Amino acid sequence: MTGVTVLGSTGSIGVSTLDVLARHPDRFRVVALTANRDVETMLAQCRRFRPDLVAMADPQAAFALRERLAEVQGAPEVLAGVEGLTQAATLPEAGVVMAAIVGAAGLVPTLAAAHAGKRLLLANKEALVVAGALLMDAVADRGAVLLPIDSEHNAIFQCLPPGFADGLARVGVERILLTASGGPFLNTPREALTAVTPEQACAHPNWDMGRKISVDSATMMNKGLELIEACWLFGTGPERVQVVVHPQSVIHSLVQYVDGSVLAQLGNPDMRTPIAHALGWPERLVSGVPPLDLFAVGRLDFEPPDLERFPCLGLAIAAAASGGTAPAVLNAANEVAVAAFLGGQIGFMAIADVVEESLATLPVESVAGRDIAFLLNVDGHARAVAEQVVNRRVT
Ligand code: NAD
Ligand code: MG
Repeated sequence: MTGVTVLGSTGSIGVSTLDVLARHPDRFRVVALTANRDVETMLAQCRRFRPDLVAMADPQAAFALRERLAEVQGAPEVLAGVEGLTQAATLPEAGVVMAAIVGAAGLVPTLAAAHAGKRLLLANKEALVVAGALLMDAVADRGAVLLPIDSEHNAIFQCLPPGFADGLARVGVERILLTASGGPFLNTPREALTAVTPEQACAHPNWDMGRKISVDSATMMNKGLELIEACWLFGTGPERVQVVVHPQSVIHSLVQYVDGSVLAQLGNPDMRTPIAHALGWPERLVSGVPPLDLFAVGRLDFEPPDLERFPCLGLAIAAAASGGTAPAVLNAANEVAVAAFLGGQIGFMAIADVVEESLATLPVESVAGRDIAFLLNVDGHARAVAEQVVNRRVT
């Protein structure tokens, strides 16, 4: 029996993870769950999965959950704040930790899980973008297993041979081909993009996801964050990662080898496949995902990305090339800009402007030998700068 902690259990990835875990009660036991402030969903999850520990990032939500759990028999202990999240991430009973908090808010507990030597299932791509060196070092130091949940990176992992960690060139890899659906505005003209609403941006054609990543998919910042994520996970530079727009989202990414072979992983666009892959690895587990019907798919299309209409992707590629603190600044400014767009403060195309101006304002610093406190400081500073840019546009 493997104990599992799910960080961000009330979100899209969290719910899909619990769905897969519920199919294998003989193998897995849920030992801890965490969320931000969704008390109702957490209450239902506590009743269903009976964890030992629950943590709510928001102290008021923790208080409310404690009250609601008072009459539930065998109710879990409820902790609050980042300390609570970290305790859930490092619980001795947990062999596996699913890191599915959205944004840089997931960094501290995710890093703590790596330091504790857990098998880390990483959905929280922002943690790698902000603190890739620290997270990869922690995993290496502890000999922990890091398995990517992002569908593209999980696909790449599946297409790489064992030993890829010693260097992609040594295992004959020439390039990683990172597929992108292109999001809901793949064919929307640039003039029309300025007027799109949060609802339109969150209506993804292939994937049902949280609102932040849905907006990131619409701006293609998501692919930029994923390019940086791929560089850390697979020990390569951005020049070896090619973004390929593939609107059907059936091929989840590909690996091109020096002999001309290209390996791909295909499947229905359903996150339960990468989740089940990582939970079971190196074995295969039933996930609940229906088999891929190639005749129903019919055709697969590919095109290069359009950096004119999707400037966020270009900004992320440039930040990846700059390295140092640039990806952390890019991520923080993007989180602020996306929240402002979802809150109706700025328009869709202004997201890229806020990120660009924040990057231009803050100098790139080296992260060599730096600790988590330094990176959290960079993150906070970049948020303040981005807020100023947003406020200037609103007033
Ligand atoms: P979501 O918004 O649906 O869920 C986010 C979860 O994190 C919730 O449980 C929420 O309570 C928790 N959370 C939010 N803010 C928090 C905070 N400040 N402190 C602690 N917890 C907080 O998001 P999602 O779509 O499930 O995405 C989660 C992560 O997985 C993101 O990093 C995203 O990029 C990545 N991801 C998601 C998908 C997908 O299909 N949804 C695919 C690939 C990668
Ligand atoms: Mg992805």
